[in-house]
Amino acid sequence: MRKVCRNDKMFVEGGQCPICKGSSFTDNWKGRLFILDADKSEVAQKIGIKQKGEYAIKVR
Ligand SMILES: [Zn+2]
Repeated sequence: MRKVCRNDKMFVEGGQCPICKGSSFTDNWKGRLFILDADKSEVAQKIGIKQKGEYAIKVR
């Protein structure tokens, strides 16, 4: 199972989140979302995504 940052829900490879630089991850997530252009994506704005990338929809 891939891990997701608890702060911003981004999928993270390695030991540090590229967005918040944090290391608090979870593998308890549901749904996947790929944001190509956060400025033009309604979904991204709704859940507060500001950077392109792959995100989980729900994180525990
Ligand atoms: Zn993060």
